[in-house]
Amino acid sequence: MRSITTFTIQYAHRFYNFKGEAQYLHGHTGILTIAVEDTINPGVNMVFPCNEIRKTAWHVIQNFDHALILRHDDPLLPAVLGVYEKQGIRNGAPTNQMKGPAFKTELATAHPDCRLVVTKETMTVEGMIKIVYELLKDKLNIAKITFVSGDNSACQEYPVKGTRDRCPCCGIALDENGVCPKCGCRKS
Ligand SMILES: [Zn+2]
Ligand SMILES: [Zn+2]
Repeated sequence: MRSITTFTIQYAHRFYNFKGEAQYLHGHTGILTIAVEDTINPGVNMVFPCNEIRKTAWHVIQNFDHALILRHDDPLLPAVLGVYEKQGIRNGAPTNQMKGPAFKTELATAHPDCRLVVTKETMTVEGMIKIVYELLKDKLNIAKITFVSGDNSACQEYPVKGTRDRCPCCGIALDENGVCPKCGCRKS
């Protein structure tokens, strides 16, 4: 079965060199849905607690919220960074607190101090799904990712192999010793 969690992110981007309106900088509310697949954990009668999926995913996904997302070769990138630099906010600001940890993968690099994500490919809804899967595939048994942004949406299903040992008391993933990092219960 699948446990499904949805996130909302507000972001600005553009499709650099795209022949259409989207080549101009604009913003969206994006809705990201992640489905996690496993057996039902009989102790808690759930696949995986949705708030735990949320916590694990939001840790990295919040880098895309209230952020500017630009492709690595977009000339807006040095221009925007130049303005942030002049204004003294490139390396952070006291009011910029809702930050995720910086990450760098093959497809995207997050710069949380200036709420910027630099991507390898154009950040379409399809591109976002690839980025999210790469960031979270080792942490969650992701079966499907859907991303809706304005009138555009895309989804991708992934094969899920095996099952994860989860706590019989609270449902979160057990550590390598078979102990729950949250409540201390052991594998039943
Ligand atoms: Zn757009
Ligand atoms: Zn537990």
